[in-house]
Amino acid sequence: MGSPFILLHRHTCLGRGKEIPWDVTSLKKKLDGKVAIVTGGASGIGEATARHFANHGARAVVIADIQDEKGQLVAASIGAHRSTYIRCDVSDENQFKFLVDSTVQTYGRLDIMFSNAGIINDLNQSILELDFSAFDRLFAVNVRGMAACVKHAALAMVEGGVRGSIVCTASVVATMATPIHADYIMSKHAVLGLVRSASARLGEYGIRVNCVSPSGVATPLACNAFKMTAEEVAKTIEPKICLKGVVLTTSHVADAVVFLACDESEFITGHNLAVDGGFRPSMRYIGVKDEAQDD
Ligand code: NAD
Repeated sequence: MGSPFILLHRHTCLGRGKEIPWDVTSLKKKLDGKVAIVTGGASGIGEATARHFANHGARAVVIADIQDEKGQLVAASIGAHRSTYIRCDVSDENQFKFLVDSTVQTYGRLDIMFSNAGIINDLNQSILELDFSAFDRLFAVNVRGMAACVKHAALAMVEGGVRGSIVCTASVVATMATPIHADYIMSKHAVLGLVRSASARLGEYGIRVNCVSPSGVATPLACNAFKMTAEEVAKTIEPKICLKGVVLTTSHVADAVVFLACDESEFITGHNLAVDGGFRPSMRYIGVKDEAQDD
């Protein structure tokens, strides 16, 4: 007889020329029929996650961003029947409300919000150099924009009676600090506070709120901030993690987001899921050369 696993595995292989992973069908159905919004979906982590959502069976994936051409290309490549692009600057609450309202109007509901849009400035400021106009711009996107995402997604879910999942992108620096990028670090600490507070409020509606905290991953944001190529970013970050032989990609982060978005994490809320290969908490920072401190 054998275990159900072996039977299922054999069953899927019957009559086929080559082996097919036994669980390929179930993997595709993790988000079966769900309607999702991805902010910052035109690039990097957001783009990879939008594609993962579609691959895992989401009925509709709405890409929200301010990079129109890229956003439209991502939506078109997922497929016009399943994905649309809507321009939305998350720092403007009205634009965000329109995004959520039009998603609900078009697709009937909102199940998943991936609040991911974020920026970093390349000023490398410590607290001593803090420029408050740059600080305000960054907080308008990374903190106020993130909060507007959570607020309006939650309102739509409450109104629609949807036990939805909201996932935010925080960062390893949500729980640690480096001397520079002080404004970015403060903004990511705030995301953690947002997730904890919102999850405490929204639990009574069955709405879960969690975040992912990636370490450095070679996206345009990281390349611009550190003035490095994608290869250089990857090479610089690799020695800082304890997990050897693997470099963080946007796909790893997207896998974690899918987990938090789907029912496999049904009892998880208010959680900060590190996707960092055991990034070693330290005051060292990529881009800051300090060989003497290296292990
Ligand atoms: P990215 O630059 O590839 O993607 C960010 C996207 O957000 C871009 O498409 C950009 O156009 C969009 N965006 C920026 N401002 C916006 C606004 N006002 N309204 C709507 N969209 C806006 O970078 P990424 O690395 O994929 O960043 C995604 C998230 O991941 C950010 O929140 C970032 O802080 C976080 N993060 C990145 C890293 C990393 O090393 N790359 C590590 C930890 C956390």
